[in-house]
Amino acid sequence: MAHIVTIGEILVEFMAKEIGQKFYESGDFVGPFPSGAPAIFIDQAAQCGSTTRILSAVGDDGFGRINLERLQRNGVDISKIKVLKDATTGVAFVTYKDDGDRDFIFHITNAACGRIDEELVGEEDFKGCKYFHIMGSAIYNDGVYRAILKGIKLAQRNNCKITFDPNVRKEIVTNEEKRSILMDILNQAQIILAGENEIFYLTGVEDELTSVKALLEKNAEMVVIKRGSRGATLYTKDEVINIDAYKVKEIDPTGAGDCFAGTFVSCINQGIKPLEALGLAAIAGAKAVTRKGPMEGNTTLEELRLLDNENQNK
Ligand code: ATP
Repeated sequence: MAHIVTIGEILVEFMAKEIGQKFYESGDFVGPFPSGAPAIFIDQAAQCGSTTRILSAVGDDGFGRINLERLQRNGVDISKIKVLKDATTGVAFVTYKDDGDRDFIFHITNAACGRIDEELVGEEDFKGCKYFHIMGSAIYNDGVYRAILKGIKLAQRNNCKITFDPNVRKEIVTNEEKRSILMDILNQAQIILAGENEIFYLTGVEDELTSVKALLEKNAEMVVIKRGSRGATLYTKDEVINIDAYKVKEIDPTGAGDCFAGTFVSCINQGIKPLEALGLAAIAGAKAVTRKGPMEGNTTLEELRLLDNENQNK
């Protein structure tokens, strides 16, 4: 039994060493780093003290092993990660542009995580589960999408809330059909954690408050907008709370949003009030960008609370 369950890609990431490096020119990359948005999320949720499980698949290779060992070490239930003999673990390469934007090349559709389908998802995954977390990046093929839909049905039948991070990647959300899939999930979620431009991209409504209000009138109880180094905003039916970012020197932005979401959902699961959860999530997101590697800056709740206390005593 796990209180927080997620599904989707587990992969290793190789990161360009230099800003401005191009995929079409030879250059140095560092890695492999354990990665995949759902994996980063669930690792952080576990480090913050919740019981967690991820449904996924890796190959029977070193790239699978680095992920399995990391997730298990940090307390994630890895019993529903299939280890496939006839597929290799997913891989992503990332380059950084001068303006802070990133490009990805994903090898996931034809990798082990591309084999996830509805058979992986069972009623037992949702018995006692309180939050089913979905990442928009996980709709990379039909099998995973069907698995997510089955998960949503089972979650709803078991009174488990849907938490959703659209995590829109232009390399994955390639057409209108995929946008509308994400829109459907957005409309069903109780907790939404979105990047600043993602709600606009999905709803087509330019004014943030208008689109968030529409979500709060449907199924959403909380909508959090993540704004990178400018902090975050929490919207509920009753209030709007803006918080500043926790000041750090950014080394690598990859994984901040997943780490933020993992902290927020894990805190809410443990009964921590939304405002405190938001503050701790912002510290976790900030901490994540101080380390190269998507999961390398993940942190325990104890450490986040220490940093929070230090910050308040400044
Ligand atoms: P990604 O998709 O790359 O994981 P995201 O767009 O989902 O990112 P961000 O807004 O980049 O998420 O980051 C999540 C949170 O982490 C922010 O709301 C902020 O609180 C914190 N954060 C991110 N970048 C920084 C930074 N440079 N300095 C301080 N805090 C940061």
